[in-house]
Amino acid sequence: MLRVCFGGTFDPVHAGHLAIARAARDVLHAQVWLVPAHDPPHKPETRADAAQRVAMLELALAGEPGLHLDRRELARPGPSYTVDTLAELRAELGEALPIAWLVGSDALLQLHTWHRWQDLFELAHVVAVQRPGAPIDAAMLRASAPAVLAELDQRWLPPSALHESASGGFALLPLALPRPESSTELRRRIRSGDPWQDWVPPAVAAYIERHRLYREPGAILPPESTDA
Ligand code: ATP
Repeated sequence: MLRVCFGGTFDPVHAGHLAIARAARDVLHAQVWLVPAHDPPHKPETRADAAQRVAMLELALAGEPGLHLDRRELARPGPSYTVDTLAELRAELGEALPIAWLVGSDALLQLHTWHRWQDLFELAHVVAVQRPGAPIDAAMLRASAPAVLAELDQRWLPPSALHESASGGFALLPLALPRPESSTELRRRIRSGDPWQDWVPPAVAAYIERHRLYREPGAILPPESTDA
């Protein structure tokens, strides 16, 4: 069965992440593993620590069939390079199992900045999902990420074909509706006292309240040079 990995900072996990993970499970007939990053790659202002981010993911995933948590990046010291994560997975799961790495379209437009990004396709398929403000189409890719467009050129597959090979394809995951949520906007709302509870599962909202997360502007950490 296809294994989908959905990496991110999840600071915090929000309803958009969950809707995308469920869509991947249902449309791709896959098991989906959320993979929280150890360091905040490209994100100097992460505000919850890894243990808190994982605790919120556990709450969000409880009772969600087919959605799982993969803690491997937290156990690895240093930056969380996706290519290293996929190499580990490939070694564990063998050469034949189809693996897909799922990203939002904003991340796809940055893919060429990821460590050894072209090697990702040796290890897995890449699946992208549209995100408001970052439409994936040939014109957009040509304008903002021509190297990514060139790499994807021969790789486009219908989502149903991802099961037929272990790696090397690119597919778009259809979503019934684009998801407006973002962790950045969620943190801003919490800090500003604007309504935010609808954007997370009730148990995650309760955790955020109980731990008083995201209330204050965080310390600025030095940026890490790693993947999104
Ligand atoms: P931030 O606002 O801090 O950048 P985020 O909401 O993008 O956070 P991440 O944990 O960085 O959350 O995202 C993990 C993955 O989920 C990324 O590939 C990102 O593109 C994707 N993603 C997050 N929110 C959405 C969304 N609303 N629609 C589509 N993709 C999304």
